[in-house]
Amino acid sequence: MPSALPPPRKRLGQHFLIDPNMIRKIITLADLRPEEDVLEIGPGRGDLTRALCTAARSVIAVELDRKLAAYLAERLADCHNLDLQIGDALAFPYETLPQGTVVVANLPYYVSTPLLFKLLAARDRIARMVLMLQTDVARRLVAQPGDREYGILSVLAQYAAEPSLAFQVSPNCFRPRPAVGSAVVRFMKKDQPHPRVTDEALFTKIVRAAFAHRRKTLVNSLRDEGLDPATISRALESAGVDPARRAETLGLEEFASLSHAIAAEGKGYVEW
Ligand code: SAM
Repeated sequence: MPSALPPPRKRLGQHFLIDPNMIRKIITLADLRPEEDVLEIGPGRGDLTRALCTAARSVIAVELDRKLAAYLAERLADCHNLDLQIGDALAFPYETLPQGTVVVANLPYYVSTPLLFKLLAARDRIARMVLMLQTDVARRLVAQPGDREYGILSVLAQYAAEPSLAFQVSPNCFRPRPAVGSAVVRFMKKDQPHPRVTDEALFTKIVRAAFAHRRKTLVNSLRDEGLDPATISRALESAGVDPARRAETLGLEEFASLSHAIAAEGKGYVEW
């Protein structure tokens, strides 16, 4: 007898897509070619997984819940191009993905932000991504300077890729219904990270430090995060950025110029 479907574990963000139209919409947006390889995070009950297996050459699906994975292995036994892996997607070796992998997933919302950072860090291997997320994270990903949602995630995601909000998804498309709204975001690859940043670790550190104290001016926020005040003043001047501005008003290009200018300061930033 086939295994019964285990009850949903909300702790693991288990809100399953039950609307076949929504699954079709996601597959259409992913625009998979038969020679492409896919990574799915959190296959759940496997409805999206089956559609992915039909559209792509191969699918790696990483599921944390052992009971669900056992159920899924039986349910999708006829999907011969599926590599179902039991484990934590936060610990997945993204650097081993086939070159040009397409990531398609209805992410577990409780870990969506750290997962996004992992995926963005692995962008060299990834051709594009279609991700279901909670609406507030989706808005942060596409926010522009001056928007309320603009922050670290906006700058780092838009540096690494080109995210766009594809469509909103009603809670009625899931069982159990999530308490928050959902949206699908598509990330297209940038040919060249634009603007070019030579020291990405420093760029990330500056973006994080600049937003660490949202209400403060840039100069004060960077100082409070331990950067030498004289270095900041010189770097802001040479980047042409007014020290009285706040991080939430700076565009990607300006963060890149600031990071160049701080790198050019040499000693002041090395000791940061
Ligand atoms: N893809 C399915 C769907 O659309 O119906 C399920 C999506 S559900 C929102 C998220 C899935 O991610 C669940 O199956 C959950 O068990 C799994 N999950 C939660 N945390 C995980 C983690 N750290 N690594 C891998 N999978 C995880």
